[in-house]
Amino acid sequence: MRHKHYLLSFSLAAVSVASMFFTVGQSAQQTVPAPAQSRLDYQTGATLYMQKSAEYRAICYQTFAWAKRALADDDKSRRKLPKAERKKARAVIVDIDETMLDNSPAQAKGIKTETSFNSKDWYAWTSKRSAKAIPGAIDFANFAKAHDIRVFYVSNRDESEKQATIDNLKSVGFPDVSDEFVMLRQKESTKEPRRQKIAETYRIVLLIGDNLNDHADYFEKKNVADRFAETDRVRDLFGSKFIVLPNAMYGEWESAIYEYKRLSEADKADKRMSALELP
Ligand SMILES: [Mg+2]
Repeated sequence: MRHKHYLLSFSLAAVSVASMFFTVGQSAQQTVPAPAQSRLDYQTGATLYMQKSAEYRAICYQTFAWAKRALADDDKSRRKLPKAERKKARAVIVDIDETMLDNSPAQAKGIKTETSFNSKDWYAWTSKRSAKAIPGAIDFANFAKAHDIRVFYVSNRDESEKQATIDNLKSVGFPDVSDEFVMLRQKESTKEPRRQKIAETYRIVLLIGDNLNDHADYFEKKNVADRFAETDRVRDLFGSKFIVLPNAMYGEWESAIYEYKRLSEADKADKRMSALELP
């Protein structure tokens, strides 16, 4: 789950220290300077949006309603397909984190404890098997099942997290979750080989994720402008074949801002500030 590692990887500790310096080291009348405060609030705002805004919840319901509509449309349109395609079993590919399961409590803990993302804390979280479902996700999975469409959970969680992941998905109520249909990261983070493997046997009707890399490989490692260009190029696929959930906490959108470089937390904060578009 390399991406997740950005999640808590924003310099909460450094920001906190900086904030303390400014608060303690300067006169009582002075508040934390705006740039430092904005960095401190950055992850908090994103996490609260997921946890406390009814708007986020509504967007999730809206998104899965679109996804169900896309499956229902395929029920009708597949009659026009060549026989071999028409007869092929159907599949939906879904991402797991921030698509089917909500990991915002892990994010929140990192903020409270001022701890950057690290594998140890992440594995401790996933091993608890306590992530809740994203609103609308279970209903969608049941809808797919009722339409005889197989759901494949394709995630970049590590293979070592597989049993805990299966247990968590089952415990919140996702149907037909088993070893075969949960495909985690082994050697490479790109999901394209896993998509191709599924396509050998199934006709992939829909792909759902919070990260465009969940949908196609042509979004991978692109800069911000090129990600926009690719998105515009395939705009007709959104809402029909590609379904996207919001995730302001982390993702490739943010890696693109950092130009996919390993930067210090201070440099990341500078990149974020300089990426802002002003009037
Ligand atoms: Mg995800």
